Amino acid sequence: MIRAIFYDAGHTLVRPRPEIAEVWDFLSHQLGIAIADEHRGPFPDVAAFFYSRLGEDGLGSYSSDARARTFWTQYYAHSLRDAARDLPREEIESAGGALYDWYADPAQWQPFPDVIEALENARARGLIQGVVSDWGSDLLPILHAHEITRLMDFVVASAVMGSSKPHRDIFLHALGRAGVRAEETVYVGDSYLADVLGSRAAGLHPVLIDRDRTAPKVDAPVIHALTDLLTVVEALDQSVAAEP
Ligand SMILES: [Mg+2]
Repeated sequence: MIRAIFYDAGHTLVRPRPEIAEVWDFLSHQLGIAIADEHRGPFPDVAAFFYSRLGEDGLGSYSSDARARTFWTQYYAHSLRDAARDLPREEIESAGGALYDWYADPAQWQPFPDVIEALENARARGLIQGVVSDWGSDLLPILHAHEITRLMDFVVASAVMGSSKPHRDIFLHALGRAGVRAEETVYVGDSYLADVLGSRAAGLHPVLIDRDRTAPKVDAPVIHALTDLLTVVEALDQSVAAEP
């Protein structure tokens, strides 16, 4: 029987509030330069940036507040390299750090519209619920401000517990918090590498949430809205019940 659901946070429960134009305006003011329209495109894929640094940082980019801030500061500096080509690296990193700090404000985040309903439905079924996220210690106030913590039994942020996904330690730590076994637990997230492979390696049942319907076919159940998760939980319960 499935007794618990663990959730990824970013792009599973919450998403950034600012549109890209507002982010570029923020950076333009921080840097004190005009940023041309041709440089105000989407930021590069953060997952690719994360995994390209594995040789330097291992899986430790989110394992403390200082390392999370450094990671994002360098990612933003990398994203700014064309827009602020003539500025010294320190100024670009300083603007990146300011952007990181801006995102620590709960007002810069919003839950997806289906989140509260999905969490309430799961809670009504008696399921234990927790968040397991690669995030700084600012995660808890963000989730609290958006009424998510009232539906959670616990929140594990990687920077607080000192280990980040896809390492199994963070999942095993969360199982201890929940008091459940891995095979009794579903993990849902939007990253195949961090969430699906990471939680599976710790023995949990992974589910990929693909809200934009852009994911390639994967070897795990896929949902497009969080309110579809209980259907997967029911199917898992039935497959376990059908085992001899
Ligand atoms: Mg995520």
